[in-house]
Amino acid sequence: MLDPKNFKADSTEIMEWIDQYLNHISDFPVKSPVAPGEIYSQIPANAPNKPESLEQIIQDLDLIIMPGITHWQHPNFHAYFPANSSVESIMAECVTSAIGAQCMIWDTSPAAAELEQRMTEWLREMMGIPIEYEGVIQDSASSASLVALLTAREVATNFTSNEEGVPNKLRVYCSTETHSSIEKAVGICGIGKKNLIKIGVDPQLRLNPELLEQQIKMDLEKGYLPIAVVAAIGTTGTVSVDPLKEIAAICKSYDIWLHVDAAYAGTALLLPEYRWMIDGIEQVDSFVFNPHKWMFTNFDCSVYFVKKAEILIKTFEVLPEYLKTKTRGLVNDYRDWGIPLGRRFRALKLWFVLRSMGIEGIQEKLRYHIQLNQSFSESISNSPGFELAMEPFLNFTCFRLQPEGLESTELLNQLNERFLEEINASGRIFLTHTKINDLYTIRMIIGQTYVEEKHVELALSEIQSAAEKVLTKM
Ligand SMILES: *Cc1c(COP(=O)(O)O)cnc(C)c1O
Repeated sequence: MLDPKNFKADSTEIMEWIDQYLNHISDFPVKSPVAPGEIYSQIPANAPNKPESLEQIIQDLDLIIMPGITHWQHPNFHAYFPANSSVESIMAECVTSAIGAQCMIWDTSPAAAELEQRMTEWLREMMGIPIEYEGVIQDSASSASLVALLTAREVATNFTSNEEGVPNKLRVYCSTETHSSIEKAVGICGIGKKNLIKIGVDPQLRLNPELLEQQIKMDLEKGYLPIAVVAAIGTTGTVSVDPLKEIAAICKSYDIWLHVDAAYAGTALLLPEYRWMIDGIEQVDSFVFNPHKWMFTNFDCSVYFVKKAEILIKTFEVLPEYLKTKTRGLVNDYRDWGIPLGRRFRALKLWFVLRSMGIEGIQEKLRYHIQLNQSFSESISNSPGFELAMEPFLNFTCFRLQPEGLESTELLNQLNERFLEEINASGRIFLTHTKINDLYTIRMIIGQTYVEEKHVELALSEIQSAAEKVLTKM
């Protein structure tokens, strides 16, 4: 076992490893090319009986583990949404693990609770969220949305569901484009997936408020109890922004909890020019966004804002004898603000990132990514045989091949599927896809912390040569 007395010497190799990794990440294929089972079969079936040296472990890290890593911090990672980090965030994570505190309640580390409170206040102010909202850090947007629906369920049932079980005929609404975590949450919280009603969208894939209201009216007539609407600020497929103000007005008039899932695009609220996305926020009951996506903070870090924290706490509070403290009521015991009891000290990395970059440093990076995306999308739309599937938005472009005269959806989809395979085949870049109105569409995100113009140029040339290949084979 390693001795903390030798930490400095023992850690040198790891620090060098990290330095090498961060500075040579572009040498790796972005997406791991291994086959299923390839890593597993190289790992011994049993744990070693005798201690092994750190050198041996690091050697196997390079030999066995690294080939099976997909490099999310690679500047040519353009898939899904980013889960970006930064040097300052990595450092904070090192400190967090050195401290190793379990921050379930204020008493178990007052600084963790109070820093969390401050960091969520900083973010609230930075994002234009009204002052009455209080924030808490959750592990993921999925958990935060589950927390929102559980709270909405308690409110709608007069705080009887936790106690007596969930009544039938509760209903939740979101658009057809909403993230799968909402469906998962509706199932988990006992409302039943069949009671999640997916509302149709407009051509920009934004929830249609008229259809929402019609559905609510119809459900009320049939004896259902509408309990929550989930609006997306930035859907996962196409970063579409639901019309919050109109949805909020409906929720107000029918007294329905309104939860906003801004997991990805929420970060753009740091730019005043995108605050229109939350026009209507005063009416929102809860809101989540992920600094672990586009705000340079290591996974995991989801910030959840709630308008009435006392309702949240009433939903989750448990008070066994062994957790009773004298400070109860004077401080925030965050174990009552979500599902798990145990909590990591996640606020520290936010503190490092926000201080080291400053609001302006973050804004500059976000605007740079947005600008890179604008020139990328212009080049794509000027390339013969390409079409933009939607108006580019933030740092996101979706596009496909649309050769002249090719009309069949099936053939187009096959072509674009082959196109994406070809794009990713070299390993130099990594993109993923979605479907828009049944049409296979390629998604491009430019959001990795250290991405530069040259990386986007590389991506463009890889995309264009992949297009030539599949078009000549047609
Ligand atoms: C990424 C994403 C999620 C899921 O986030 P997790 O933190 O991984 O649970 C939910 N909603 C939207 C809109 C997302 O983009």
